[in-house]
Amino acid sequence: MTELEALAELAKRRGFFFPSNEAYGGTAGFYTYGPEGAALKQNLEDAWRDIFVREEGHMEVSAPTIMPEDVFEASGHLDGFDDMIIECSECGATHRADHLVEDAVEDVEDAEALDTERVAELVADHGIECPSCGVALADEPVDEFNLMFGTNIGPGSSSPGYLRPETAQGIFVEFPRLKEYARNQLPFGVAQIGTAYRNEISPRRALVRVREFTQAELEHFIDPENDDPPLERVADVELPLYSAEQQQGDGGIQTYTVREAVEEGVIGSEWVAYYLGRTMAFYERIGVDMERFRYRQHLAGERAHYAADCWDAETELGGNWVEVTGFAYRSDYDLKKHGEYSGEEFTLFRQYDEAKTVERATVDPDMSYLGPEFGGKAGDIADALAALAGRDRSAFESAAQRDADGSSGDEPRDGDTVTVDVGGESYTVPVEKTGFSVDEQTEAGEHITPHVVEPSFGVGRLVYSVLIHSQGTDIVDDEERTYLDLPAELAPTSVAVFPLMTKDGLDDSARDIAQELRAAGFEVAYDDTGNIGRRYRRQDEVGTPYCVTVDYETKETDTVTVRERDSTEQKRVAVEELSDTIERLVDGETLADL
Ligand code: ATP
Repeated sequence: MTELEALAELAKRRGFFFPSNEAYGGTAGFYTYGPEGAALKQNLEDAWRDIFVREEGHMEVSAPTIMPEDVFEASGHLDGFDDMIIECSECGATHRADHLVEDAVEDVEDAEALDTERVAELVADHGIECPSCGVALADEPVDEFNLMFGTNIGPGSSSPGYLRPETAQGIFVEFPRLKEYARNQLPFGVAQIGTAYRNEISPRRALVRVREFTQAELEHFIDPENDDPPLERVADVELPLYSAEQQQGDGGIQTYTVREAVEEGVIGSEWVAYYLGRTMAFYERIGVDMERFRYRQHLAGERAHYAADCWDAETELGGNWVEVTGFAYRSDYDLKKHGEYSGEEFTLFRQYDEAKTVERATVDPDMSYLGPEFGGKAGDIADALAALAGRDRSAFESAAQRDADGSSGDEPRDGDTVTVDVGGESYTVPVEKTGFSVDEQTEAGEHITPHVVEPSFGVGRLVYSVLIHSQGTDIVDDEERTYLDLPAELAPTSVAVFPLMTKDGLDDSARDIAQELRAAGFEVAYDDTGNIGRRYRRQDEVGTPYCVTVDYETKETDTVTVRERDSTEQKRVAVEELSDTIERLVDGETLADL
């Protein structure tokens, strides 16, 4: 059995995760986390929150998962959030065309970056067949397929909405309010852990590619000119980097400290470098095997529609590298778009060190001229003139003078005109009727659109990676044992309590001890079925780091046996010291240290 098969079997049998709706034949791309998995996922999210919200001093929000169409028109998802689809006309199955090409053509690693015609050509040239029925796909077209799930908000179809394909947009659209909570000061970060939906063409590899999943995203808003990350905090952290250059040259992973990667220009953005450094501690803490981990830089054609520099964290699972986190420098793309489309202020006021005197061009149109001349359009034309003066004052200045010496700033001359566009029509107005003037003004600052740095984590892919990487087997008492060496912080159960027998009051004592440990804040399981060896195996399988056994000696000496998952060592501990002992163990000590 491969490690992926072993995990799929364990996950189902012990309740980590399983395909949803199996009673109705199952629904591809949807998984339910069972009791063990839900607890593990929650613990992983808590560890994320501890690092990326609490330690970094950021805020956390929780936004709705359905958003109106306007949001995704602005964000670019309606137009650009597509994958390439190919449909088999023989059996009706649909496939990710770029994935089929990557699987079949040796020297194509990134077919997503190619256009649909080229991918169709590659499908034909390499005789790629439908994975479902085996018929050649050479004559099938490759199309773009938008991954968003659509719905209607309210009855009727006048108000289309979409299930969000990323949690980030729920943060961006609330920027005008969030900046107030940050007292209008950059930098500040806003995090969100929540559900995202993508109508993936071919869901696969268990939790890796599903249609409903949890993201943990951080949007860090910065002033690109004045804010630098606290790089010294992570300068010496070592990063396993697989740069674009290494990928093109067929090289391998290279280790750089954060400082080296920035100084040598391997990572383009200091902010992205900062988060790659910070995130190392997170992956280590949740139990990712760092020997099976790398940061891979996006190749130029692979970047998302909004991103300027991108790296992915990848884990190796069953021989394949899988993206678990995307790090993007999203620049001012999203806030600018939402500002444009909504007409609201998605900017922030940046105070100058010293007030500046600047020239400002304004208009004060003569409405007694515009009204009779342009009728109902006069107001819009006046607004367009004001916008044009702010944008391009030279349009109002003397055309003749500009031609002569290339200068601007001259008074308009009689007979000069200016043309504006309103609703697709051009309107020409004599400059002397626009009330155009240039005045000196003192300004204390300017409105800027912050830039955004985004680490975006897929929680399900992390849960899956941690489970795969923590599977182990060894021989204990001449028997093979399988275990998960999950960090104590992540384990669904931190301590299991067993009575040796369910008689002579041992079970009552064990229940009391379990209750006391629960009151002390631990996740406790009580188990009195089967022999002790089997109970240990059961807990090893789900990664419980400590087991406590209540036996006949407990009655006499008020002590219990504590057994450690990793070493399988055992030690007697006084009942009154039990909760302190477990606490020390969970915090990183071992039984041998005590
Ligand atoms: P992929 O290329 O694998 O489709 P992506 O580049 O589209 O992923 P992002 O848009 O960067 O992914 O999303 C951020 C994170 O969300 C990913 O790193 C991943 O962990 C997670 N994620 C994205 N799509 C899925 C999915 N269909 N199922 C589970 N997790 C996902």
